[in-house]
Amino acid sequence: SELPADSVTSNTRRQVVGACYSRVLPTPVKKPQKIAYSKEVATLLDLSDEVCESEHFAQIFTGNQLAAGMEPYATCYGGHQFGNWAGQLGDGRAINLGEIINQRGERWALQLKGAGATPYSRTADGLAVLRSSLREFLCSEAMYHLGVPTTRALSLMLTGESVLRDMFYNGNPQTEPGAVVCRVAPSFTRFGHFQLCSVRNDFALLKQLADYTIRTDFSHLDASAADIYSQWFTEICLKTADMIVHWQRVGFVHGVMNTDNMSILGLTIDYGPYGWLENYDPNWTPNTTDAREHRYRYGHQPQIAFWNLSQLANALYPLIGMVEPLQVGLNAYIKAFEDGWQNMMAGKLGFASFKPESDDDLCADLLKLLEQVETDMTLFFRQLGHIKTDAVALDKTDEELVAPLMSSYYLTEQLNHNYTAQMGAWLRRYIQRLHANPYSDAERLVAMNAVNPKYVLRNYLAQLAIDKAEQGDFSLVDELLELLRHPYDEQPERENFAVKRPDWARQRAGCSMLSCSS
Ligand code: AMP
Ligand code: MG
Ligand code: MG
Repeated sequence: SELPADSVTSNTRRQVVGACYSRVLPTPVKKPQKIAYSKEVATLLDLSDEVCESEHFAQIFTGNQLAAGMEPYATCYGGHQFGNWAGQLGDGRAINLGEIINQRGERWALQLKGAGATPYSRTADGLAVLRSSLREFLCSEAMYHLGVPTTRALSLMLTGESVLRDMFYNGNPQTEPGAVVCRVAPSFTRFGHFQLCSVRNDFALLKQLADYTIRTDFSHLDASAADIYSQWFTEICLKTADMIVHWQRVGFVHGVMNTDNMSILGLTIDYGPYGWLENYDPNWTPNTTDAREHRYRYGHQPQIAFWNLSQLANALYPLIGMVEPLQVGLNAYIKAFEDGWQNMMAGKLGFASFKPESDDDLCADLLKLLEQVETDMTLFFRQLGHIKTDAVALDKTDEELVAPLMSSYYLTEQLNHNYTAQMGAWLRRYIQRLHANPYSDAERLVAMNAVNPKYVLRNYLAQLAIDKAEQGDFSLVDELLELLRHPYDEQPERENFAVKRPDWARQRAGCSMLSCSS
């Protein structure tokens, strides 16, 4: 309410100028049905299990009913899509219900995804299907439990509606079950919100939005400082660097790092055609829409974040009127990413600290080896924790050294003598490096297990949960949600989820590649 609202109250598609948001109403749906909810997020919002199990809950979080005090709105933003300025985009299928201040005094914004058309829906329907909603729901919670900054998900609901989609299975349109996720975050503000004000030369609105954002989402900064906008930009750069380091650590590939999908708070936002690296491949992207250029490939995410921050810097320039302070922020990103990446790699390898003289080469050589033959990134680092550094460790043959890592390789026939010799040689260097490390083997294992997850939301696991859910069986959603609450724990009874992607999933749609919007 502190920001200018669109003067029209209507969901009709249009250009919205001079305003940050439009009041809208969710579109009522036939038959709300709860699939799952996150207990942790419910707790954040002070919602009891009883409330979450109620019919009222399913009605509200599909958009059928409004709770007292809710004043739904959709926000106005633009963005660069795949490197090109795309003009007004906005919340085309996201509707904000309002904010909750919880008992701890924290402010949480609630947003329904897929609750119907808004002024920003352009040519699309404002809806979401079960497939993509289930993926967003499970992945945002999985990312949280992995320690990756992210928006959260309260609930996953079926709407009882059928939604028409251009499916990639056979190229023909077909209907899919409609669904709604309730996203939760301190703020959903994106780089694109500022970009659109700036591109339209609406500097008064730009300033209003920036001041509001600093006041509410960066309230620890001194808003009266002369260089407040530069301080703020630098902080956005640092938060973004931290998020990207975490993505690289766990092998998460966002898939659509357009500037409208970049959170001002450095949260992972907009789970679309994301994917998890299975075999380590820096060139991999899950997004079929990006199959030619691979702009948003795993190994390019750090550079893309920098490019996106540069676009934000351009947008904020009118507030600052000088280039240097913005350059300071961008340089801070580079430094924070480099330092963060080194610390992250040291952690993954079980080193107390990163020593560039040895570890630059050790890391580079390892990543080349992982790429050279298909190696499951998650399994490999988890198993590396078990390498022994005792007196006989260096006397072992190459085969003996590589043996504990064997279950992380996809194509064991690729593991010829030459490869085993190279990996054996690397492992000897690693063991020697560990001899200069202050941890015992047992201590190192504990440290490595705290940063190398055993369980991630493998692409094929999400697809299996989707297949079952489409048949009305939600048991795998519950099981994965439970599993992914403790991704670093051994959970021996769930070991079957910590294995390589099965062969059938290699080419199956949904298990490796996905298209952009669904
Ligand atoms: P995304 O690729 O998910 O980041 O979406 C880019 C833009 O398209 C955003 O403005 C979305 O709100 C909008 N959009 C994506 N899917 C839909 C849909 N089914 N209906 C309306 N707008 C959509
Ligand atoms: Mg988006
Ligand atoms: Mg999306």
